[in-house]
Amino acid sequence: MVSIEEAFEYIAAQRPVRVKQHVQVSEAVGLHLADVVVSPMDIPVFDNSAMDGYALCGASDTYQIIGEVAAGSQSELTLEQGQAARIFTGARVPKGTTAVIMQEKTNVEGNVLTLSEIPAAGTNLRLRGEEIRQGQEVFQVGHCVNAATVGMLLTLGMTSVSVYARPRVGVLVTGNELVEAGEPLGEGQIYESNGGSLQAALRQLPVDITAVRRVTDNFEATSRAIGDLLGEVDVLLISGGISVGDYDFVKEALAQNDVEEIFYKVNQKPGKPLFFGRRENQFVYALPGNPASSLTCFYLYVTPLIYQFLGRSSRTREKVNLGHDFEVRGTRPTFYRAKVEPEHATILDKQSSSMLHSFAMGNALVFLPPGTHNKGAEVFVWYY
Ligand code: AMP
Ligand code: MG
Repeated sequence: MVSIEEAFEYIAAQRPVRVKQHVQVSEAVGLHLADVVVSPMDIPVFDNSAMDGYALCGASDTYQIIGEVAAGSQSELTLEQGQAARIFTGARVPKGTTAVIMQEKTNVEGNVLTLSEIPAAGTNLRLRGEEIRQGQEVFQVGHCVNAATVGMLLTLGMTSVSVYARPRVGVLVTGNELVEAGEPLGEGQIYESNGGSLQAALRQLPVDITAVRRVTDNFEATSRAIGDLLGEVDVLLISGGISVGDYDFVKEALAQNDVEEIFYKVNQKPGKPLFFGRRENQFVYALPGNPASSLTCFYLYVTPLIYQFLGRSSRTREKVNLGHDFEVRGTRPTFYRAKVEPEHATILDKQSSSMLHSFAMGNALVFLPPGTHNKGAEVFVWYY
């Protein structure tokens, strides 16, 4: 058995081999760059107008309007001193332009433009390269691609980008008593839920869920399923069958498949019978079957490893204040389902490891060591 901190350290020490992959820019959101991005061009691409109005040459209060430039047009217009051109936002400014005046500040009669205010030189001009220069490093390795990054890469005319590949994750659910929702329940049976909740949690991360399987509590079937899944995934999550019951075959089946134990059992509640192992660059979590245990272990211990595959830094815990006094009975450090409002955490009722409702109603796991904790005490939380 390891302590919670030891479990975190073991996971942090794994450093899985990351795979670089070129993906379409539109597919890169949520992923982290594996190579620097150097701009192939100046942004803006050309000097252009920030306003609908008039391009002006020189400072005056009247101008002669000599033409018009719309966004996207290929005008060869050149302005001389005292000349102006009708212009629209994003249009290339004519040669000779010293400023653009917004149309609200103008008066036009025929081709004579008069201004209510003379703009300073450079007003309303967006100059070539003022945001980004050709050859400039725009994004560093590790930058997380967000929606604006996608837009920026497209602005640079890029179609694909090098990122750390999404890890491929498989889910294997064990348990003779489990029935899919939608099927009739027999005597002693319950509906299977961990497969669905784990996949839902995985879908919040940039991973590829490449396989989902069910097996009965049978050593041969379990071992075969593990072998098959390890043929195609980077991370395997197994639900149930890892405790010490007579029908718990997962640990032996993992050994049979050459998965080396990194740790087994964490001194915590819920989720003590957690197994974490490795076979070269593949990782296996055998999560306890109790629904709240399985999801707690996922958020605490699976997420940081997935982050390592992605090249994401892994600061997953934050500090908040406890909203009320609370006593942790027993001797195991405990993660409680809690509702964290901006300022404080409220620990919810019904915390048994078999109970999911409090998990569904909360938004964070609060860590508390055994003993008495006073209202206002600083506690660590993991948001989910
Ligand atoms: P196990 O870890 O396999 O001994 O299971 C512990 C408890 O969790 C038992 O009450 C199981 O019925 C329940 N359980 C295991 N797997 C699931 C699952 N996939 N969905 C819902 N409950 C489960
Ligand atoms: Mg079981």
